[in-house]
This record gives sequence, structure tokens and C-alpha cells, in this order.
Amino acid sequence: MNNFLQKLQSSIYRFSYGRHGRDDFSKFLIISGLVIFLIYEIFEIHFLYPLSLALMFYSLFRILSKNHTKRYQENQVFLFYKGKFDKKFALQKRMWNERKTHRFFKCPKCKTVVRLPKGKGKIEITCPKCSNRFIKKT
Ligand SMILES: [Zn+2]
Repeated sequence: MNNFLQKLQSSIYRFSYGRHGRDDFSKFLIISGLVIFLIYEIFEIHFLYPLSLALMFYSLFRILSKNHTKRYQENQVFLFYKGKFDKKFALQKRMWNERKTHRFFKCPKCKTVVRLPKGKGKIEITCPKCSNRFIKKT
């Protein structure tokens, strides 16, 4: 039995040697594939079935792939957009939590978000990033 487990372990090791393995992008693909599959199962939206399979197979393909450079680049692109999304989401959360005490304005020139205390009346705001001035009511 022990011998069998050792053989199994070494064959798994041999099989996975040189392959890309899991990364954040393949985890994301697997999880979205499963979520889409669940939505398909619950609501019987038929076109979601091939989509969920495609996502899961693509994830498996990436895990077993031996082209590390390409898979690494894909993961970097994924992490870049995920970072952007996380940042946006964190800002939305902060805006919601501080909605009673602060107001948030976007600079019309560079789109930087400026946070100001509420109830100060009409004021001129100087953007901390590009020094553009604009007037808003807080
Ligand atoms: Zn600005």
C-alpha cells in the first residue's frame, strides 16, 4: 500500500513537472466557471453551460501548460485589471461609509477623486494632483 502511494506520488510529480500550475488567473477562471455553472443550473439559462465549461477547460489548460512565459504574461494582465477593480471597489465602499460626513468630487481635468467634509457651502477646490481649480457645493 505504501509502495503504491509512493508510486502514485512520484507519477503525479513527474506529470506536473515543468507545468505552469495554479496562479491567480486560473483560480479566477475556475471560480467564475463554477459560479456560471450554478447560475445555469438554478435558472436554466442554456447558453451559460458552454461558457462555464470553456472557462473551466481554459483554466485546466493554463494549469497544465508548459509555456510559462505566456501564462505568466496572462496572469500579469489579469493582476493589473484586478488591482484596478479592487481599487475602484475600495473607493466605492469608502464613499458609502463616509456618505454622511464627506463628499467626493472628481477633478474635471485628471479625474482624481477629492474628499471634502460636508456642509462647508460653495468652495473652490484645488486638485492635489494637477492643481486644477473648480467650484463645488459641499
Ligand atoms: Zn486634477
